[in-house]
Amino acid sequence: MMYNERVCTDCLACSHACPTGALQYREQKFMFHADSCNLCRRCERECYFTARSFSSKQMTLEEVIEESTREMQFKRGAD
Ligand code: SF4
Ligand code: SF4
Repeated sequence: MMYNERVCTDCLACSHACPTGALQYREQKFMFHADSCNLCRRCERECYFTARSFSSKQMTLEEVIEESTREMQFKRGAD
């Protein structure tokens, strides 16, 4: 699951919609328990801000690292 923290408003709609408890919100942070997720995508549908999405794109490890690095650089620039 992709999660865009930058657009998340902490409304908790996704967490409330999750039927398995895979999305827990504690101490102002989301914990995603992949073992409990059944991939129903309710969290994605409930999010009005498109902060959650399931990518169907296949990525190599190098692409994942590259994307994560870009995201971290963007966040550092925003701080
Ligand atoms: S529904 Fe979207 S905006 Fe609301 S807490 Fe979940 S991810 Fe954030
Ligand atoms: S896909 Fe379904 S089970 Fe998984 S976190 Fe989202 S709502 Fe919960």
